[in-house]
Amino acid sequence: MSRFFSTRLSLLDAYEPGEQPSGVEYIKLNTNESPYPPPDSIKAAAVNELEKLNLYPNPDGRALINRLAENYDVKPENIIVGNGSDELLAFSFHAFLEDGVVFPDITYGFYPVYAELYNVPYQQIPLLDDLTVNIKDYINTGKNVIIANPNAPTGIALTLDEIEEIVKGNPDFIVIIDEAYIDFGGKSAIGLINTYDNLLIIHTFSKSRSMAGARLGFAAGPAPIIKDLNKIKYSFNPYNVNRITQVIGEAAISEEEYFIGKRREIIKTREYTKMRLKNLGFIMTDSCANFLFGKHPEIGGHILYSKLKNMGILVRQWNKPRISDYVRITIGTKEQMDALIAATGEILSNG
Ligand code: PMP
Repeated sequence: MSRFFSTRLSLLDAYEPGEQPSGVEYIKLNTNESPYPPPDSIKAAAVNELEKLNLYPNPDGRALINRLAENYDVKPENIIVGNGSDELLAFSFHAFLEDGVVFPDITYGFYPVYAELYNVPYQQIPLLDDLTVNIKDYINTGKNVIIANPNAPTGIALTLDEIEEIVKGNPDFIVIIDEAYIDFGGKSAIGLINTYDNLLIIHTFSKSRSMAGARLGFAAGPAPIIKDLNKIKYSFNPYNVNRITQVIGEAAISEEEYFIGKRREIIKTREYTKMRLKNLGFIMTDSCANFLFGKHPEIGGHILYSKLKNMGILVRQWNKPRISDYVRITIGTKEQMDALIAATGEILSNG
């Protein structure tokens, strides 16, 4: 740390991304990326745009927003695009949460980090023992609410009715639903933004659209909320989504069939892997995401993580209360999952 750093910020516990190894070839099941590359039309769109890199991108992301609005059956003024959904989460914490926010004790690790960064008071509400959200805890909270649905790293989803109850149950506070993993099994609440003026939905292209490297997310909400987010964006970085990402985002929306096919494949592989791991004695949550979350009674989470890493397979594990025994395993190809299952079986039988 330099002697110039703000005292308050020097106390931040920054977010720790999953390992991105270089050099060693791992089977990488630790950051919930898609194992499938985007289709060729997306690559072609990126190449075409290269000759315009001397020009700034459209600051509004207008063409992309129009395509998203059409696709999700909302108006363009209901959408803002961001440099990954992380950026839109950051804008939202900054814009709306200064009076306080609640979220589960086990959820996306960036929420407490943004809360600290933007000086937002926060309260973490414990998940139930089975790692589900008790929605009664989120009615009349007297605070703003953020919930990942499906939750991460548990993968457990709330129903659309439950989400609506939470939105209705906090009419004077904003309810932010982070739908990063919604396309793998949950039901999106985007359709509710025309009914409730306190609902904001955040999506990413990083998972179900195979574009983690492009950094693209969007938020959908009532027009006044989107206007507020634009105020933050235009006070921070007007050109937040680069030219190439804007055109490949548009191209991705034209490729819905391709991505729907890949999601189906991932869901099928998820259920297959879950069944095989259960047969090995794992206790698994009912994940609706592109990852599994489980623990084995005979081996600690960190030991399993380390042994898998030694065998060339990366998964994610947190040394945090309540979940240190668990590992989170991203769903890769069937071949990658078979390698994970074989390695896990070997570790367990070697004691
Ligand atoms: N929300 C959740 C719940 C996530 O797990 C992630 C991925 N780490 C994100 C948001 C951010 O995704 P991105 O910035 O790649 O859009």
